[in-house]
Amino acid sequence: MNRAAHLARLAVGEPHLVEHRTFWQHCAAGELRFQRCAECATWRHPPGPRCPACHSVNVRWERAPEAAELYSYTVVHHPATPALKDALPYNVAIVAFPAAGSLRLISCVIDARPGELAIGMPLALAWARSADGQALPVFARVSTGRIGKAP
Ligand SMILES: [Zn+2]
Repeated sequence: MNRAAHLARLAVGEPHLVEHRTFWQHCAAGELRFQRCAECATWRHPPGPRCPACHSVNVRWERAPEAAELYSYTVVHHPATPALKDALPYNVAIVAFPAAGSLRLISCVIDARPGELAIGMPLALAWARSADGQALPVFARVSTGRIGKAP
């Protein structure tokens, strides 16, 4: 099975908050964008109406920095829903963007088996699609050039 195929069994649904709707609209356009405070430049996610650092309501939606890494993860062995039973084991990843401060995104690494995940490993943005057609930001491993080469 394609390791991202299980995501096609889940629905994102209709976001209730306007900030969440904007996030998903950017994803639908193939862009991962996060809110960034127009006053103090703090990145933030999940989206919200005010900056948690300075409380400003002035915000920009900026493209996610290209460099991403695995901040933390868990491997799921008991499915959150029966629809994911065939996908076990799957990972849930917390992705960090070193150029975006403390911003974190919960996602998954689509091309890694549980033993292949390592905190700090570089990741690249990829996309999957949910059951209701929403583009989902997911991540793939970035080759360091060391794998498979003689020392
Ligand atoms: Zn701010």
